[in-house]
Amino acid sequence: MIQLKSPRELDIMAAGGRILAATHQHVKAAVAPGVSTLQLDGLVESFIRSHAGATPSFKGLYDFPGSACISINEEIVHGIPSAKRVLAEGDIVTVDIGVHYGGFHTDSAWTYAVGEIAPETQRLMDVTEASLWAAIRVATLGNHIGDLGAAVEEVVTRGRFSVVRDLVGHGVGAAMHEEPQVPNHGKPKRGPKLQAGMTLAIEPMVNAGGAATRTLSDKWTIVTLDGSMSAHFEHTVAITAEGPRVLTTLQV
Ligand code: MG
Ligand code: MG
Repeated sequence: MIQLKSPRELDIMAAGGRILAATHQHVKAAVAPGVSTLQLDGLVESFIRSHAGATPSFKGLYDFPGSACISINEEIVHGIPSAKRVLAEGDIVTVDIGVHYGGFHTDSAWTYAVGEIAPETQRLMDVTEASLWAAIRVATLGNHIGDLGAAVEEVVTRGRFSVVRDLVGHGVGAAMHEEPQVPNHGKPKRGPKLQAGMTLAIEPMVNAGGAATRTLSDKWTIVTLDGSMSAHFEHTVAITAEGPRVLTTLQV
């Protein structure tokens, strides 16, 4: 069942989302060659917990050991923070963070460049972020979940990259993963109709090469099958009568 949130509940989620956005700014400033993903995870956890009532959603979720999922280069999602994983010049690193605050989760991922990156890698990041904003623009009353996926797919296809189909966005609220699923591909006017009070984690994952994925032996990390780079941008967005409201930003 899709859980609709009241305006008061959306304001609580926006407060948690502000903490999450500030956490991203904090961790982004620390991304540099020589830094381990465990160090970044420690920064995420301590920064979130420095806000009264806020906790990292992912810590212990399905027994995940970290506070953030941190994925480098060909890793798409669910990278486990590790002292052995050290960022190098030219890498890209995706930091996926959830914050639990006031009884609700918010969810936001961002891919960051480590020092100088190749122009084609920068283009992968730009196209992926653009596909997120294209989906957010059509997250309006009267549209359907399929409109979001179609918008992502259109931008990514035009950019000559591949949308990951094995992983999807999701409703988010009292539980981190709620209905409906939010695929990054689809047809306009298909799927559940968007309603006021729906809160969606919209999260295109885009590969520079093919769409195929595989899971590493750690049973968490999902990588591109062909070893190509992958980028991931995610916001938690509320559907409202006034239009899409991005909750995981400092500007709400
Ligand atoms: Mg996420
Ligand atoms: Mg998510």
